[in-house]
Amino acid sequence: MTPVILVLNAGSSSLKFSLFSAASQDLQLIVRGQAEGLQTSPRFVVKDAAGVVLDEKAWGDGVPLGHGGALEHLVGFLRSRSEGYRLVGVGHRVVHGGLEFSRPAHVSPAVVQALEKYIPLAPLHQPHNLAPIKLLLERMPELPQAACFDTAFHRSMPAVAQAFALPASITERGVVRYGFHGLSYEYIASVLPQIDPPAAAGRTVVLHLGNGASMCALLGGRSVASTMGFTAVDGLPMGTRCGNLDPGVIVYMMDELNMDARAIEKLIYQQSGLLGVSGVSSDMRVLLASAEPGARRAIDLYVYRVGRELGSLAAALGGLDAIVFTAGIGENSAELRERICHDAGWLGLSIDAQVNRGKAQRISAPGSRVGAFVIPTNEELMIARHTRSLLAGAAATA
Ligand code: ADP
Repeated sequence: MTPVILVLNAGSSSLKFSLFSAASQDLQLIVRGQAEGLQTSPRFVVKDAAGVVLDEKAWGDGVPLGHGGALEHLVGFLRSRSEGYRLVGVGHRVVHGGLEFSRPAHVSPAVVQALEKYIPLAPLHQPHNLAPIKLLLERMPELPQAACFDTAFHRSMPAVAQAFALPASITERGVVRYGFHGLSYEYIASVLPQIDPPAAAGRTVVLHLGNGASMCALLGGRSVASTMGFTAVDGLPMGTRCGNLDPGVIVYMMDELNMDARAIEKLIYQQSGLLGVSGVSSDMRVLLASAEPGARRAIDLYVYRVGRELGSLAAALGGLDAIVFTAGIGENSAELRERICHDAGWLGLSIDAQVNRGKAQRISAPGSRVGAFVIPTNEELMIARHTRSLLAGAAATA
């Protein structure tokens, strides 16, 4: 039977999963898929590593499945596979590890209790991330589980990069800059030495431009600054999140528009960013194809904000040796990459426009002082690696 590691990424209405073979040194993806619409009209799809659909099911409208039902269906599917899998561990993406967790943690009831403390810091993600962990602890207590955090990689940031200019009484409550997308940055930092040793050893800014978007300054492969702060709404404008915002705007909305915390939360997380500015869509592909002036405005603002943050992170690094594009927009949009790099010309960056439109990993022009790369991220593989390391550690100490 093939030993396998299951990687779970649970959101409010979805459960994404990937299954990796742990039979050989390099973890091989076997299947991946998701259950979505968990509270409304659940659908389940699983594909093999080549993207071929292996199984699909829809439950219909008004048949809530929840994380428990989705997990049960997934386990049933895995049991039904004739290849025969032996589940050796489960790795979970958990958005917040607070100040306490600077590396992945072996799940125990005490760890779950510690992680519940961070629900107020990430109310839209943390409870959902914890849901399958708790279910598995209850139903399969012997199964090793690893909690892998989006914040952990950024614990290496110096104190000044973590601090807000607030009174100590607020800071002491854990109100600091945490940074997110850490599993993505950690993966990029892990592959960069093979792709470009000088970039791996030097001052590199990674641009994770997906639906959620942030940028991270890496010094010798360690995070020293991030555009995201206390929550994942800070920094760049995103699909529906506003990013960096003068805190005075929040006070204004409370005083003048009578908006309460929930209304403001909805506005800044779900109705702003590319969607809010364009009035068209949160999806960059749709905006690039749209002739609406709002779409153009949203893209212009996006490119401008990325350029400002790049300057800020280069300042934090004391210079710039390379940039790396990753995630949906970063990996796929030659147009956005070209515009961002054009604006970064003052940093000594120039790209080869033709190479940028192809599939190459290095897109900087031969004479460019700053290197530019496109590297697909792989957060699931990073979680699988962490899970295997934790299992090996547990075996070594048993
Ligand atoms: P998530 O944060 O949900 O994982 P992704 O990393 O998949 O998001 O990124 C989604 C974003 O990537 C969307 O805005 C989508 O439009 C954009 N994207 C995907 N492919 C392209 C493309 N070819 N050109 C421009 N944008 C793209």
